[in-house]
Amino acid sequence: MVVTFPPQVENSGSQYLPENTGIKADISPNQQLLPLTAKVNQHDHLEIGGCDVTTLVKQFGSPLYILDEATLRTACKQYHNTFKEYYKGESQVLYASKAWNCLAVCAIVASEGLGIDVVSGGELYTALQAGVSPAKIYLHGNNKSRDELILAIESGCTIVVDNWYELHNLVGLSTDSAVRIMLRLTPGIECHTHEYIRTGHLDSKFGFDPNDLDQVFTFVSQQPSLNCVGLHAHIGSQIFERQPHRDLAAVMVEWLRDASKYGLTITELNVGGGLGIKYTESDDPPSIAEWSRAICEIVQSACESENLPLPKLLCEPGRSLIATSCITAYTIGSSKEIPDIRTYVSVDGGMSDNPRPITYQSVYRAVVANKMSAACNETVTLAGKHCESGDILIKNVQLPKTAPGDILVVMATGAYNYSMSSNYNRLPRPAAVVVTNGEANLILQRETYQDLIRQDYLPERLK
Ligand SMILES: *Cc1c(COP(=O)(O)O)cnc(C)c1O
Repeated sequence: MVVTFPPQVENSGSQYLPENTGIKADISPNQQLLPLTAKVNQHDHLEIGGCDVTTLVKQFGSPLYILDEATLRTACKQYHNTFKEYYKGESQVLYASKAWNCLAVCAIVASEGLGIDVVSGGELYTALQAGVSPAKIYLHGNNKSRDELILAIESGCTIVVDNWYELHNLVGLSTDSAVRIMLRLTPGIECHTHEYIRTGHLDSKFGFDPNDLDQVFTFVSQQPSLNCVGLHAHIGSQIFERQPHRDLAAVMVEWLRDASKYGLTITELNVGGGLGIKYTESDDPPSIAEWSRAICEIVQSACESENLPLPKLLCEPGRSLIATSCITAYTIGSSKEIPDIRTYVSVDGGMSDNPRPITYQSVYRAVVANKMSAACNETVTLAGKHCESGDILIKNVQLPKTAPGDILVVMATGAYNYSMSSNYNRLPRPAAVVVTNGEANLILQRETYQDLIRQDYLPERLK
C-alpha cells in the first residue's frame, strides 16, 4: 500500500506519490511524503485536493502553504476510529494544536470529533473562536500566567497542571465550582528521535516528579476547589520506536492505581502525543492505527490485571495528525554554482516560514511541481532568502534541472512550520489555503507590509 523505497518508478518527483491516488482508509498519512490526494495531471504538474499547485500559486501568491483537507480528515478518522474500535472504555483523541493552530484547522479537527489541546491563552482563544467546545479543550504549559488560568477557568476547559506553583495559584483563583484539572507527571521515559532512556529521575522542565506523587495526591485530595479528573504524560516527539509508549501506558496505570488510595477518583488518562512521521524515504514510523491500537491494548490489559475500572483514554497527537496534509510551494529565483563544491538554488521563503531545518537540522524532501516526471539528476542545496548562511531548507536534494519561476514544493510541512513562523527580516508570512475536490479556500491571509508595521509606534520626538 505504501510507496516502497528505493523507488521502483523512475527517479522523478512522481516517486513520492501515494501508490494509489485517492483516499484509501488504510493508508496512514504519517507514512507518506505527499498528501493522499497528490496526483500528477496531464500538464505534468502536481495536483493536491484536485487543484493544480502551480495554479494555486498564481491565484494566491508565493510562498503558499497548501493544506489537503482529505489527508487531515483521514488522519483524524484513523486516530478516532482506532480508539473507538480497540478500547472498551470511553476515549477522546485531542489534537495538539501547537503543531498548527488557526481557526480553520481547529474547526476541521473538531468536526471529526476530536478535542483540542492548547498551550497558551492565544491558542485557547483561537480554539474557542473556532467554536470548539470547552469540554473538549485541555490547557497545557509549564508556566501559565494568571490571565491564562483565568481565561481557562472562565471558559470551562480542563487545565493540565504542571507544577506546585500552578497548583497553589489555582487554589487562590478558586471559584464557586471546582476547577477541572489533570496532573502532568514526568514518567522517567525520554525519547530523542532515535534513542530511548528509562530512568527514575528526569531532567525535564515539564511536569511533577513521580517521586512527589504522595504529596501531590494528598494536597489535591484536600482541595475542594480542585476537581482532579486525570493524569497526563507526554514523552517526546517524532518517535518511531514502539516500546516507549507501551512502557508509558503501563507506568500511567500504576499511577492510577496509587491515586485511588488517596480517595481521588481519577477517570481520565492522557498518554500524550509523539508518533513520528515520514519526512524522508528512510523514515519508517508505525502507522496511526498500529500506534493507537497498542496504546488501547496496553492500558486495557494493565487495568484488567490491576482490577481497575477502565479510565477514559486520551491521547494528543500533533505532528502525525497534520504534518503530511500540508506542502509549502515556493518560487525558485536565483542560483549560484560553486564549481566542484555545490549549487545553491534559492526560493522566496525560508527560515521564517519553516524554521525547523535551522532550529533542529530537520531534513525534508522536495519536488518541482511543474516538472513532476522529469528525471531528478541534479543535486543542489535549496536555500532560503534570509540573511543567514544557515538559512538552508534542504541540503543536497535531488531535483530535476530547475529554472527561475519553477514552483518548488517542500513536503510534510503541516506541523511546526506556520506555528513556528516569524517575520525575520520583515518578511510577511505566507498565505495558507485548504484544498478539497478542486476547490481552494483561503485560511490564512498573506501578511502585507502594513501588517508588519501594525504594532510599530513612532514616538512624537522621533518624528
Ligand atoms: C507537543 C506536545 C504534543 C504533541 O506532540 P507531537 O509530537 O506533535 O505529536 C502533545 N502533548 C504535549 C503536552 C506536547 O507538548
